[in-house]
Amino acid sequence: MRSSILTFLLCSAVVAMPVGAQAPALPSAARAAPINVNTLKTMTRTLSSDAFEGRAPTTPGETKTVAYLIAQMKRAGLKPGNNGSWTQDVPLVETISSPGALEISGGSAPLSFAYKTDFVASTYQVVPRSELKDSELVFVGYGINAPEKGWNDYAGLDVKGKTVVILINDPDYEMQGLDGPFNGRAMTYYGRWTYKYEEAARQGAAAAIIVHDTFPAAYPWGVVVSSWTGPQLGIELPGGRMDQSKAIGWVTLDAAKKIFASAGQDFTALSAAAKRPGFKAVPLDLKANLAFDNSIRKQASKNVIGILPGKAQKDEYVLYSAHWDHLGRCEPIDGDDICNGALDNATGTAGLVALGQAQTRAGAADRTMIFLAVTAEESGLLGSEYYAANPVYPLAQTAGGINMDGLNVVGPTRDVTIVGSGKSELEAYLARAVKDQGRIIVPEASPEKGSFYRSDHFSLAKLGVPMVYAKSGEDQVNGGVTAGHAAAEDYTNNRYHKPQDEYDPNWTWTGAVQDLQIYYRIGRELANSKNWPNWYASAEFRAIRDRSRASEAEK
Ligand SMILES: [Zn+2]
Repeated sequence: MRSSILTFLLCSAVVAMPVGAQAPALPSAARAAPINVNTLKTMTRTLSSDAFEGRAPTTPGETKTVAYLIAQMKRAGLKPGNNGSWTQDVPLVETISSPGALEISGGSAPLSFAYKTDFVASTYQVVPRSELKDSELVFVGYGINAPEKGWNDYAGLDVKGKTVVILINDPDYEMQGLDGPFNGRAMTYYGRWTYKYEEAARQGAAAAIIVHDTFPAAYPWGVVVSSWTGPQLGIELPGGRMDQSKAIGWVTLDAAKKIFASAGQDFTALSAAAKRPGFKAVPLDLKANLAFDNSIRKQASKNVIGILPGKAQKDEYVLYSAHWDHLGRCEPIDGDDICNGALDNATGTAGLVALGQAQTRAGAADRTMIFLAVTAEESGLLGSEYYAANPVYPLAQTAGGINMDGLNVVGPTRDVTIVGSGKSELEAYLARAVKDQGRIIVPEASPEKGSFYRSDHFSLAKLGVPMVYAKSGEDQVNGGVTAGHAAAEDYTNNRYHKPQDEYDPNWTWTGAVQDLQIYYRIGRELANSKNWPNWYASAEFRAIRDRSRASEAEK
């Protein structure tokens, strides 16, 4: 069946017609946008080839990737998106830290933990050497300060100069439903590792150590090691980020249990207590010592931007985004040390260009469409964070956007999942398109993973732009949810952030094309409308959007 569907899709491309927003019902052929599967396959295969060395920012892999992307955007018919240039410089600082042992004293016996095996550590501070001397350890539970929820794990605590030990995820992640104080099973931003370090720094902690646990973290220790032991990238900011903690890192669950036991404390019991409202942080009467040199390298990476200029409301924008970067050279497995990042996110980057190709072929819409390939997503959404803070096109004039991170190459599905659903009116556009495909929208299979906070749409959402991040669900046409879930598990356990995330010529692209046709349609409808879909009142981004639109209206 695969090959026949491919032939069908290619041919329908020829009959593509412009799509109007609130226009009357459109013939299905026009709704089934002309997504060029050869573009998807060729670009994914090329971007994930060993020659691109896993596309790490500020490496030769970047140079190749950026040049290739520009050539493909040109070939798709897009125009340079940054005032005549195809790129936006993103100033990055690369830090390679080389920790010795983590020494814990003051307990029943001195403890010494080995780098990579028991802990990882680095720093956001731009300094040649980081030193933690006799820093008191304090267990702060989930390390959350959420005034709007009446929850503060740092209440009445002074952690300046101290080392805080923090649990990953948020207090109610074990619930089955979504109606807990922290959205139950769904992870809130408070559950993300980035938030934990941000809050610890705000509290003045000298160091912040997160306890790894596979289920609440949603990935095994190996992913922590492969993500934390190579070069750490950060956006270069004035002042060298001295407002951040001296050291940030993770310890394994076993190491944490040993630390608590040496303090005469029961880690499991204290973790349970940390889930309950009113939890009070616990000084462990232990001292941490850790020192490491940091080799610092400052270099700009690049966001790549192409546009399809609008024909009417030219200074209003619709945005498509996907990150082009991946981990580069990583922890070797079976002698292979290139993390090729085929699914993550060569597929999404190929999808971005294929959408540019299809939209250009359909002709200019009323609003301008932006195709933004961002850098350094794997290092903490840095390229999109930098674009959002330094937008080439005003965020207040950006009506909405769609992000892609990993396309479906398993097979067509009966369902679509909105990651972080129930947040914005843009989801109504998605619902229409999904319905027209005869598919249904289902809740996220794993809301505990906090996927909404783990890709680039979040950087723009944080500053108010309504963003959709949706993709095929697990209900495979061939094999149902069983097949879909097995494929997702196989990817997470065997290929996610590993050298094994490689291009497979046997991949089925029908599912990816289904999703891209939805992204195509949402973008087209929004770009041919005068609508300004907003966040729902309950969404954490509504207030900032209202403010930015209001200040735009005053201009
Ligand atoms: Zn990704």
